[in-house]
Amino acid sequence: MTSSDSWEITVIRHGIRHATRSEAYMSYGFYGEPDGEHTTAYYLWILRNGDQVIHVDTGYSTAGARKRGRTVLIDPLEALAHLGCSASDGNPVVVTHAHYDHIGNVAAFDRSPIYIAASEFEFWTSDLAPRTLFSHFGDQDEVAHLVAARADGRLREFSGRLELAPGVELIEVGGHTPGQLVVLVNTRAGRVLLASDAAHFHEELERDMLFASMADLPQSYRTLDWIREQEDLIVVTGHDEAELGRFIPLEGPLSEHAVKIGGSDDRR
Ligand SMILES: [Zn+2]
Repeated sequence: MTSSDSWEITVIRHGIRHATRSEAYMSYGFYGEPDGEHTTAYYLWILRNGDQVIHVDTGYSTAGARKRGRTVLIDPLEALAHLGCSASDGNPVVVTHAHYDHIGNVAAFDRSPIYIAASEFEFWTSDLAPRTLFSHFGDQDEVAHLVAARADGRLREFSGRLELAPGVELIEVGGHTPGQLVVLVNTRAGRVLLASDAAHFHEELERDMLFASMADLPQSYRTLDWIREQEDLIVVTGHDEAELGRFIPLEGPLSEHAVKIGGSDDRR
């Protein structure tokens, strides 16, 4: 790895939900364990390499959060401002999947190319998307912004794998949604897999316990297998509340909400 393909990742926790384990895991009763409290954290990720910036997901919007009773800890667009960047800068946006908590605010990125699996875009614009088990998470109001970006010539649909930049690879894994992506990033701390919702929680990965909403169960299990088979990988999950405790907190106004991975002064 050369320094030119080494990225620093900022992990921003923008929201939180307190619920139960039986709400977090699919068919929780099958495990024969008592129910209990469970916290889901909501993240977005920013990759930086010199003056290059890549956004991985855009968090949920205030409207999307309100609709579902979710708490906004910090507005994602405000968090970007603290990092010295803006949605309108035109930097690339990766949509790991089109759930409301990953594409809220995407309309603000009105000059950005938007990378998404072709299968993901196709699904959320199909007649299956409004069916209840999908539409709770896949919000047509938010999907409309992807449709608008496509009309604008800014949607970059692909299948399989795509090297977005040296050291940043997008990999279509499916499972949670038809075109779920994970992002493999080279950093000074090592290779990082931003699993997004291919693995919501470390417990999901370690104990093979799928999240409550999975579009394709066999593929969801296969994706967990694939992640576990990767060697020397730092896995960052999509929603585990413990992620912030694993890395270096940012200094300044985002110290409560954000950490970095692979920074030049990162010793972990
Ligand atoms: Zn999701």
